[in-house]
Amino acid sequence: MNPGSQGPIAELLSIGSELLAGETIDTNAAFLGAALGRLGIPLHGVRTLPDDRAAIAAAFAEARVRVPLVVATGGLGPTHDDLTREGLADALGEPLVPDPALEQVLRVRFAAFGRMPESNLRQALRVPSAEALPNPIGSAPGWWADRDGAVAVLMPGVPTEMRRMWEEQVASRIVARFVVRPVSVRAVKTFGMGESALAELVGDLLEAPGEGIDAGIYAHDDGVHLRFWTRGEALTLKLPVARAISLLGQHVYAVDDEQLATIALAALGRRGVRSLASVESGTGGTLLAILAEAPVADGARYAGGLLLTEADDAAAPPADATLRAQLLPADDQGRSRLEVSLSGLVPLGPLHTRVHGSGPQRRRRAAFAALDQVRRALG
Ligand code: AMP
Ligand code: MG
Repeated sequence: MNPGSQGPIAELLSIGSELLAGETIDTNAAFLGAALGRLGIPLHGVRTLPDDRAAIAAAFAEARVRVPLVVATGGLGPTHDDLTREGLADALGEPLVPDPALEQVLRVRFAAFGRMPESNLRQALRVPSAEALPNPIGSAPGWWADRDGAVAVLMPGVPTEMRRMWEEQVASRIVARFVVRPVSVRAVKTFGMGESALAELVGDLLEAPGEGIDAGIYAHDDGVHLRFWTRGEALTLKLPVARAISLLGQHVYAVDDEQLATIALAALGRRGVRSLASVESGTGGTLLAILAEAPVADGARYAGGLLLTEADDAAAPPADATLRAQLLPADDQGRSRLEVSLSGLVPLGPLHTRVHGSGPQRRRRAAFAALDQVRRALG
């Protein structure tokens, strides 16, 4: 997003020493970056902080000066190392006061388990300027503190509790509190070309996608995505999307939310294939997982698959067509050969492609490469 050009921006504080120690991956930041972006409030920074009262207080104080919305997750638990409430109270210069209503909610919650540990009473503390955000699935309430033109939002670290609080309470409050023009986004998804080669082809388009339009290029396991976004008329995005499609031709497999597996199943369906099975080796079952989770296509149905430790002729589940993918061991440079074939109603192959990388990423890329081979071969 274009920094500061229009509309409010936000910063995120991810609080918890386990995040810095590499024990927990900060998935809350990824969720909130996307969710805030959709509301038209781009995230302009994420700070990961230890469970340290002074560090948390300083981070809140600094962020509140820069941006009108500071969102924090984590550190709302009952134990002595959960210090986000204290940190924000210090930054605001307000006392922490017991809230009888919050205490009552906690007592009711704990009545089912017997006695409530005294430490949980810390979760009923609140600064006067904060409103409590009920947590229907956990003990830590959130806070919404709107003071001196800046809003601070505290949400639990547990991802399911955070997401529910966001969706049911925080997103709507943000929309009501800030004047935002929603962002329209379009995506053009490609497979089979590296990020830099692709950037060369569409370089001019990325630099000047049009008046009021921003563009970015992002590499994922399912290929390189081009994104165009604007706070203006959504219709203006039609032009750069069409231009990207014409520049990239066969490499483009989808626009927006369509997924590669769904596209491949649809291509099979157009050839009269009503069901597809898979047999894979060297891929850790990723092809099966991706096909099984693909949004239902108006095409071939996925009938299930087999993961083999070595390529052999094991019989796949009954289906009109069977996709076989064999990922061979990687060489010293992390490159390996992937063999793909299709048997049954529309026999194909064997097709070969190369897969780079290591670990789970390599296996996911291989699965997407197999689906891309099918999509390309069937046109
Ligand atoms: P807390 O609110 O600090 O008590 O965190 C509760 C749990 O949520 C911890 O077990 C963390 O591992 C998890 N958690 C905290 N912050 C995050 C985050 N940013 N992303 C994913 N998980 C988190
Ligand atoms: Mg914690």
